[in-house]
Amino acid sequence: MSSTRDYYDVLGVPRDADDATIKKAFRRLARELHPDVNRHDPEAEEKFKEAAEAYEVLSDADRRATYDRYGREGLRSGGYAPNFDAGSISDIFEAFFGGGGAFGDLFGMGGAARAGGPMQGGDVAVTAEIDLAEAAQGSTVEVSYEAVTLCEHCRGNGAEPGTPIETCPRCQGTGQLRAVTRTPFGQVMRTTTCDVCQGDGRVARDPCKVCRGRGRKVERPRVKVDVPAGIADGQRIRITGRGHAGDRGGLPGDLYVLVRVREDSRFVRDGDDLITAVDVSAPLAALGTVVDVPTVDDQIELEIPAGTQPHETLVVRGAGMPSLRGRRYGDLRVVVNVVVPRHLNREQRERYEQLADSLTPHNLRTDEGVFGKLKRAFGGH
Ligand SMILES: [Zn+2]
Ligand SMILES: [Zn+2]
Repeated sequence: MSSTRDYYDVLGVPRDADDATIKKAFRRLARELHPDVNRHDPEAEEKFKEAAEAYEVLSDADRRATYDRYGREGLRSGGYAPNFDAGSISDIFEAFFGGGGAFGDLFGMGGAARAGGPMQGGDVAVTAEIDLAEAAQGSTVEVSYEAVTLCEHCRGNGAEPGTPIETCPRCQGTGQLRAVTRTPFGQVMRTTTCDVCQGDGRVARDPCKVCRGRGRKVERPRVKVDVPAGIADGQRIRITGRGHAGDRGGLPGDLYVLVRVREDSRFVRDGDDLITAVDVSAPLAALGTVVDVPTVDDQIELEIPAGTQPHETLVVRGAGMPSLRGRRYGDLRVVVNVVVPRHLNREQRERYEQLADSLTPHNLRTDEGVFGKLKRAFGGH
């Protein structure tokens, strides 16, 4: 798409327009630009595509937010590539005006071109679950899923090898059946796909015995997927060409792998940082000590300085998750949970009493006010 006009300008709406306003603006434009209404504007098709692209972005909250912040570049680097072929334009029209194919003929793209033209196969989505250590190191997972593939016996053409393929008698090879229907725009030539040849315009005289003439079958491919180190729960990996087979020589669709990272009871993840907690008894927090702290795949010794206060956070630089981009690592943040001893026996009690008696204001002085103490207790750093 060559146009680079601002999407809000294309639809003629303000930048803070709500969803209903955006929908209304697109609906109005779509009516204006429909070729049955506006036959004399040779630019109608381009204008409609431009409007459809603007609508597709602005009607999706995530895409709109990305566009608002980073513009078209941001959409592209986020993996969104506007691509309006005959199929998606008529999908948009159907979503708006209903009518199951009443606009299949829109701009002439759905006509004879559809009978012979290649069509890309559909995308497939699968989920893969990994644990935090795998997310930290990167891993390879194997996914399996159902996908439509070409029949090998007939190579997808639906005919027994060596038998002829003939022009469809029902549609005379056009792949389509036509009828006039009434729509909000008046009478429109309605086009449906031929039910005998499924739009191919050609049928096998002797249908393939393996696929019964369908030319395709459902398989369960297994695909190994490289999961990059640093991936976060909910991110997707796209594998080009591993979706459903295309029609009439079209490219296959893509495979999207949704990565779920299993919760690890030892850590809370905050971007590339990991947060964990260690218990330290009150006497050891006062004296200072060394404790074992878990990391994703191992453990480290961490020095707890004398006088560490409850919920104080110690930071181990670079012991968090790797960053998806670049060689940077996040930090491991260790929250010190000071445990005050309970159920003291007589001897312990006496020692604590001696200790309590000996404490002076100097021992108990802190450099923070009430606000700072509360902030630390409630999870600030
Ligand atoms: Zn076959
Ligand atoms: Zn036909």
